[in-house]
Amino acid sequence: MLAADEEFDYVIVGGGTAGCVLANRLSANERTRVLLLEPGQSARGALKVTVPVALVKLFNSEWDWSFKAHPRAESNLRANIHLARGRALGGSSATNALLYHRGTAEDFDAWACDGWGSAEMLRAFKRVEGQRRRTLRSSPFHSSSGPVSVEDARYTNSLSTRFVEAAVAQGHARRDDFNDWAEGQDGVGKFQLQTRRGRRVHAAASHLRPALRRPNLEVRTYYLLLTTYYLLLTTYYLLLTPTQPGGTYYLLLTTYYLLLTTYYLLLTTYYLRRPNLEVRTSVRVTRVLLDEPHDSGKAAARAVGVAYVDEAAGGGGDAERRVALRAGGEVVLCAGAVGIFSSPNPNP
Ligand SMILES: Cc1cc2nc3c(=O)[nH]c(=O)nc-3n(C[C@H](O)[C@H](O)[C@H](O)COP(=O)(O)OP(=O)(O)OC[C@H]3O[C@@H](n4cnc5c(N)ncnc54)[C@H](O)[C@@H]3O)c2cc1C
Repeated sequence: MLAADEEFDYVIVGGGTAGCVLANRLSANERTRVLLLEPGQSARGALKVTVPVALVKLFNSEWDWSFKAHPRAESNLRANIHLARGRALGGSSATNALLYHRGTAEDFDAWACDGWGSAEMLRAFKRVEGQRRRTLRSSPFHSSSGPVSVEDARYTNSLSTRFVEAAVAQGHARRDDFNDWAEGQDGVGKFQLQTRRGRRVHAAASHLRPALRRPNLEVRTYYLLLTTYYLLLTTYYLLLTPTQPGGTYYLLLTTYYLLLTTYYLLLTTYYLRRPNLEVRTSVRVTRVLLDEPHDSGKAAARAVGVAYVDEAAGGGGDAERRVALRAGGEVVLCAGAVGIFSSPNPNP
């Protein structure tokens, strides 16, 4: 086992959809130290990711793991079918097709997993949803206060409209909202998208960035108090000594101070990070460290850390920096459906 040089309460493997949400929720407790590890990069400002119509440009790009399916005789799969998975902060939510569809209530209930029934799922979906179509905001199936913006597509090809009309003319039900479980979901219509003013909303934008930007309340309160005190003092001076020379000087000084404070408050709002949340990109986890060797015969080996390769540190081999970390609380695997051990793993 590698010697672990750092310890966190939670180590989250994979900064994709699940990883970003968990990083936000776990770090809400200031006493918890959380580390998020992601092999990809931040997609902030990347047009290919932000602009929905660029979706096809994402496949086989730097934002895609570009997995290839193995040929399997029984399923008659051809070799090398492209299997897209997002490789970025935001994971596959940074490269997916953006359709906002929750699945069916019947499925959630039929699976009969405790806490995952349709009623519980609806509550969870509504907590996340930021619905922007006015007519849906008061629907019992929607909510407009969550962090994931959902809206109608800004641009619709006229062929889509004709396709829907043709299907309706053939007797298919028209659906204006596929997530209205009371209405039913079979039929034709246009999907809503997880976008805000036409731009992609991925999990890093909806859940990670707000956590990293949380304002430092202590500093803000301190500055607000100082500003109030300063303003009172200046007003007192200007009111009581209007004829005193130096009034203009004080006025200028006050304006300058107010500008400086506003600038500082904006700065603290946007750039101060939750000190207990750390995000590392360009790192690929290669091993989960257990407290017992997996062949020790003991049934319940516990994950106590991870080993990762720092891909930014070099082009492979010895140039890569190998790091081991301990997790006092838990190691949470969020490396996606294809997963941590299927991702390209040249140095296991
Ligand atoms: C092309 C495509 C289109 C889709 N379209 C839609 C759609 O329209 N609507 C919809 O609701 N859903 C859609 N999905 C599905 C949806 O995006 C996924 O279900 C969801 O993003 C999965 O979230 P996740 O957290 O499980 O995995 P991901 O979001 O994929 O996150 C996994 C993360 O783990 C990282 N990782 C992998 N290996 C390692 C490692 N060794 N060490 C550390 N980190 C690692 C990855 O880089 C990635 O960031 C689509 C998915 C794809 C790929």
